[in-house]
Amino acid sequence: MDFSAWTQPSALGTFTVWFLLSYLYAGLGITLGYHRLLTHKGLKVPRWVMYFFVSGGYLALMGAPISWVATHRLHHQKSDLPGDPHSPRDGFEHALYKWMLNMGEKQGPEEVARQCQDLMSDPVLRLLGTSHSAGQAQLCLALNIAWRLAILAFFGPVAFTANFLAGFIVFWSPQFVNTFCHLTNHGYRNFESRDDSRNVWWVAVLACGEGWHNNHHAFPKSARHGMMWWEFDITWATIWMLEKLGLAKDVVRPNETAMAASRIKPAGAKVVEPVESLKPAAVISIVEPETVAEPVAVGEAVK
Ligand SMILES: [Zn+2]
Ligand SMILES: [Zn+2]
Repeated sequence: MDFSAWTQPSALGTFTVWFLLSYLYAGLGITLGYHRLLTHKGLKVPRWVMYFFVSGGYLALMGAPISWVATHRLHHQKSDLPGDPHSPRDGFEHALYKWMLNMGEKQGPEEVARQCQDLMSDPVLRLLGTSHSAGQAQLCLALNIAWRLAILAFFGPVAFTANFLAGFIVFWSPQFVNTFCHLTNHGYRNFESRDDSRNVWWVAVLACGEGWHNNHHAFPKSARHGMMWWEFDITWATIWMLEKLGLAKDVVRPNETAMAASRIKPAGAKVVEPVESLKPAAVISIVEPETVAEPVAVGEAVK
């Protein structure tokens, strides 16, 4: 085997650049493309921008976008209740990866089509698969292998290794969200939500901002997941940039009043029912305003 590429003075630089670009392409492909755009419609982008980001997720071995979206919408509908495809209440390993092995039994093609009516007319998304069949997974695997062999052939072993390593970590990052961000002994919660969702900082680092998962369950349509000043969300930073460039519009931000109403309040605070019109889906109670500290002015930060 020829190891000369690794001993070149430029090898470390090549590795670093390939690793970072591969990580962002794959990571944002999942978080911006599959998740915030296709699943939750938190923003609108031109079709070519959608295909660019979605291709990143596909080449991170996420499988057919339509079946991914169907799974994730089911997760939000049944979070940590019977029927949630990957709640850790059904076991750690189940949440981490075993759930993938029999999704077809939990969600047939008709159910996938029903969940994803808005995506079924897109010819490219349809082509990649409209069910949890083994065929769509094999097609995804084959295209992932071809993509990486092309990198090896055209750019050499350093680029290939960096891309492979980035792809490996990115592949596991949403599985970490599904698992650690629903474990009640991890992280913290900012908002009331009817599930076990948590914000876990190290998952947020690995998963391009998606570890702020309690925020996401409280405000699923919001394109922004990191809502406190310390909750860095690189996917949100990218969406913000796309918006400034005129490549994203109708970007959904969390409603400030609803955020203040659903903030988890200090223990012992007196509980009253919120005004019905201000009540987000996830809110179960709020406390009297005079007992609450000033809400963080998140609305200001996103303007
Ligand atoms: Zn979740
Ligand atoms: Zn979601």
